Amino acid sequence: MAVRASIQAVPRLTIDFIIIGGGIAGLACALALRRIGHRVLVLEKDDGTDQVKVAGGCRLPPNMSKILKYWGFEPQLRDISVVSGATFLSIYETGFLLGTHVWDQEVLKEAGGEFVFCHHADLRSMLREAAERAGAQIRDRAQVVSIDPTNRTVTLASTEVISGDVIIGADGPSGISRELLAGGQSLNGPARHAFYNTVVPGDKIRNDPELRYFVEQEHHTQFVWFGDGHSVLLYPVGGQEDFAMNIYAPDDGEGDGSWEDSVPISRLREVMRTSEKRLQKLATLAAAPARLRVIEQGELEDWVHNDGRLLLIGEAAHTLPPGSIQGSAMGLEDAAVLAKLFSHLKSEDQIPNFLYAFQDLRQNRCSGVLKQEMGNLMFMAMPPCPMQEARDRSMREKHEAGLNVLGNSSGGDSNSEQWEEIKELWGYNAEDEADNWWVEWGVLRERAKERARELNASQLSNGNVSN
Ligand SMILES: Cc1cc2nc3c(=O)[nH]c(=O)nc-3n(C[C@H](O)[C@H](O)[C@H](O)COP(=O)(O)OP(=O)(O)OC[C@H]3O[C@@H](n4cnc5c(N)ncnc54)[C@H](O)[C@@H]3O)c2cc1C
Repeated sequence: MAVRASIQAVPRLTIDFIIIGGGIAGLACALALRRIGHRVLVLEKDDGTDQVKVAGGCRLPPNMSKILKYWGFEPQLRDISVVSGATFLSIYETGFLLGTHVWDQEVLKEAGGEFVFCHHADLRSMLREAAERAGAQIRDRAQVVSIDPTNRTVTLASTEVISGDVIIGADGPSGISRELLAGGQSLNGPARHAFYNTVVPGDKIRNDPELRYFVEQEHHTQFVWFGDGHSVLLYPVGGQEDFAMNIYAPDDGEGDGSWEDSVPISRLREVMRTSEKRLQKLATLAAAPARLRVIEQGELEDWVHNDGRLLLIGEAAHTLPPGSIQGSAMGLEDAAVLAKLFSHLKSEDQIPNFLYAFQDLRQNRCSGVLKQEMGNLMFMAMPPCPMQEARDRSMREKHEAGLNVLGNSSGGDSNSEQWEEIKELWGYNAEDEADNWWVEWGVLRERAKERARELNASQLSNGNVSN
């Protein structure tokens, strides 16, 4: 599928959006809404500079990179990212190579985007600059402490009250928006793993004879290790200057942690003590990692407040395990869908319809992605069992036969069941989904409203005549 520039419909009515949270979802949403002329205020609790200091990598699947292309980011994306060519899969404890997988160009062409890696902070800065350039107002150190959907206001920690037409809760998995729509109930299930997020400087890898292997592969490569309750991902970021490293280990029972707070590097060494030699070395060279908990997430039923003017997006609406491939992609898709819907705005009474349409369009997609991401994690960090043996055997056999290990039994991507799944995941076109809704339902509703108005008018004039 050829990439095409998105055609902008311009709304006849423009309104004021308040976005709580300047993470990837909030910033993408601010940009997308500004691109079609709505007024946007983003309220971010942290200092914008604190956020970009957090070091960690981000994987951008084709369904996300294609949205960034539509929005004109192709040159900037090229500057900050590395295109992923291949995945190498090994055993965590021994380093034994199970096999490799090179992304099929046909698959990527059909999906309409590339699979790329970058620093999370670079992605965030890119979106923030673009949103500000497009005219979005972004206020840092503006923590929202309460939301009043009925009066369409939010109150800041400074006691300032700000009003708008629509409030967007983009304040992440532990924000107040999710709490409000969950009715104060926790949606958290049991903790499954601890997750560590860090970066290893590229020169330390290049200068070490044992680690140089990771920069010497033909394709820009992501390395994945499968182990007993553990899994590690290593992939180049920042023009291959550095390597991002994500580590999943059994849950240690400690608190939830956060993206911003690091734990000592000695902790990582301890967590990775049963890993192969190269991983143990990487654990000594990495920056102090952030530690988060991978919690089995319950799904939020309502993303729109009953009063019809508060909508949740991003991880506030649909939380994924930390480090998920689709983590940032879902926020971008949300932004693209929301802006497409609000590009048709011409009267106030459409607002709740558009917010509920957003939920209808996005909920199944995000629920499917959550199941897939949890499934991926279980697949990678399986304890020793017959299923794990079958997984390793199947990969080894394909590798020995010179085939891609993540494809079908013939090693190809096309026409397999797995490819059907990937096609659905990567081939999703957020703007087309919103356009289809508009053509199928939105236009019909407008016609029905028009018809009701005409009927009313004719009844009134008939009544007037008979009087
Ligand atoms: C600092 C930080 C670093 C991250 N680093 C990585 C990484 O390296 N790799 C990776 O894969 N993922 C990372 N993530 C997670 C990733 O951004 C998300 O998984 C995904 O992009 C969806 O983001 P989101 O915008 O929905 O939520 P989040 O990324 O959680 O963003 C929510 C934003 O809302 C703000 N906020 C929360 N409460 C309030 C409030 N009451 N008032 C105002 N603002 C509020 C937060 O400060 C935050 O900026 C990081 C997240 C954060 C916050």
